[in-house]
Amino acid sequence: LSERLSGVFDRLTKQGALSEEDVKTALREVRVALLEADVSLPVARDFVKAVQDKATGQAVTKSVTPGQQVVKIVHDALVDTLRGEGDPGALKIDNPPAPILMVGLQGSGKTTTTAKLAKRLKERDGKRVLMASLDTNRPAAMEQLAILGNQIGVDTLPIVKGEDPVAIAKRAKTQASLGGYDVYMLDTAGRLHIDQELIAQAAAVRDVANPRETLLVVDGLTGQDAVNVATEFDAKIGVTGVVLTRMDGDGRGGAALSMRAVTGKPIRFVGLGEKMDAIETFEPDRIAGRILGMGDIVALVEKAQETIEAEQAEKMMKRMMKGQFNMNDLRMQLEQMLKMGGMEGMMSMMPGMGKMAKQVEQAGFDDSILKRQIALIQSMTKKERANPALLQASRKKRIAAGAGMEVSDLNKLLKMHRQMGDMMKKMGKMGKGGMLKQAMK
Ligand code: GDP
Ligand code: MG
Repeated sequence: LSERLSGVFDRLTKQGALSEEDVKTALREVRVALLEADVSLPVARDFVKAVQDKATGQAVTKSVTPGQQVVKIVHDALVDTLRGEGDPGALKIDNPPAPILMVGLQGSGKTTTTAKLAKRLKERDGKRVLMASLDTNRPAAMEQLAILGNQIGVDTLPIVKGEDPVAIAKRAKTQASLGGYDVYMLDTAGRLHIDQELIAQAAAVRDVANPRETLLVVDGLTGQDAVNVATEFDAKIGVTGVVLTRMDGDGRGGAALSMRAVTGKPIRFVGLGEKMDAIETFEPDRIAGRILGMGDIVALVEKAQETIEAEQAEKMMKRMMKGQFNMNDLRMQLEQMLKMGGMEGMMSMMPGMGKMAKQVEQAGFDDSILKRQIALIQSMTKKERANPALLQASRKKRIAAGAGMEVSDLNKLLKMHRQMGDMMKKMGKMGKGGMLKQAMK
C-alpha cells in the first residue's frame, strides 16, 4: 500500500496546485490501494468519499505541496475512522470481581492475550486477577494458560478433568468472589472457523458470567476474514472491543480499518509479539501511519501548519500594536483561545492579564461563550468585520438575529473588542510588543 501511495503522491507533488480533479485522481488510486490492503470495498468507498468531501475546498498550507497536503488529509481521515470513543485501554473492572470474556477463533491469540492483559492489570493497575481456561477441546490449552500464569505471577483456576466450559465459568466466578479477586478472565476455546457450536458455547458462558468486557481477539494478518469473524461474534455474543494480534508482523493493518468501520466496535489493544509485554493500547495514529506508510510527510505538514499559525499570530500582533485590531483579528484570537483551553487558560498565560482573567472568571465565561462570539462575528459582512465602526443599530439588529442572539450580546462583544484594542495599543507603546510577544509564545 505504502509503495503504491508513494507513487501517487510523488506524481501529485510535481504539480503546482491541487485542483478538484487532482484530488479525485489521487483518491481513485487511494481506493485501489486500500482494497489491496484488504480493506473491504464499501469501507474503502466510504472512506474515499469522506476524504474527498474534506479535501475539496481545503486550502493548501503554504510551503507544503498539494500532494503532501493530500497525504495529511488522508491520514487524518484514517485516524478519524479508526478512533473509537473513550480510552481504549481502560477496561471496565469496577464492582469486583469483574469478569472479562475472551473470544475468537483458534490460534488468534486468545490465550496469549489473556495472560498479557492479566499481567497489565496486575502491574499497571495493581489488580488481583484470576485466569481460567475454558478450552476443554485441547487439554494442552489449559496447561498453556497455567504455564503463562506461573510465568507472570497470576493465579489460574485449578484444572478439573471432565468439566464443561459453563461449569468452569461458574467455578471461576465463585472462586473469584471467595478469593477476593478484582478481575477474572475467561479464556474460551476457539475453532478454525466460526460454527454454531462454538457460538452457542460462548453464548452459554456469557450468560453465566455476565462479562463486563467481551474482547474479541483477531489475528491482524487475516485481513478481510477478520471482518466477517467480528460481525458474526458481535451479532451472536456481543463484543465490547477488539484486540488485534500479530501486528508485529508485516500486515498492512487494513483489517483494522474495515473492522472498525463495519462493526463500529472499538479496537482496544494491539498484540506485538509472543512475549508477555508485547501488548499496547490501540493508537489510531500509529495504525494510520502504518496503513499509509508516510509518517514523515504527515509530520512535515503538521509542522508547516504550526508555522503558519505562528506567522499569522505575529502579523496580527503587529497590527494590534498599531491599533488596527479589527473583527477578523478578534475572531482569530477567539479561535486561538478555544484551542488553548479557553479564555481562562489563555489569560492566565499572559502577564498583565491577571485582573482580566479574574473578571472573565467572575462573569462565568466559558467556551460556549467563545463560540457564540465567533458566531456573531461570522454573522457580520466582510466590510463590517474590517471596520466595526460601521455597526449602527440596524446592522446590529441584523447581525444579532443572524447569529440567533440579542443585540445586547453583540454590544458586549463590541465592548470587549474596544477594551482589548485599547489595551493592545497601550502595550504596544509600552514595550514595543516585547512583553506581549513573549506571552504569546
Ligand atoms: P488461541 O488459540 O487463540 O488461544 O491462540 P494462542 O494464544 O495460543 O496463540 C497462538 C500463537 O500465536 C502462539 O504461538 C502465540 O505465541 C502467538 N501469538 C499470539 N499473539 C501474538 C502476537 O501478537 N504476535 C505474534 N508474533 N505472535 C502471537
Ligand atoms: Mg487458547
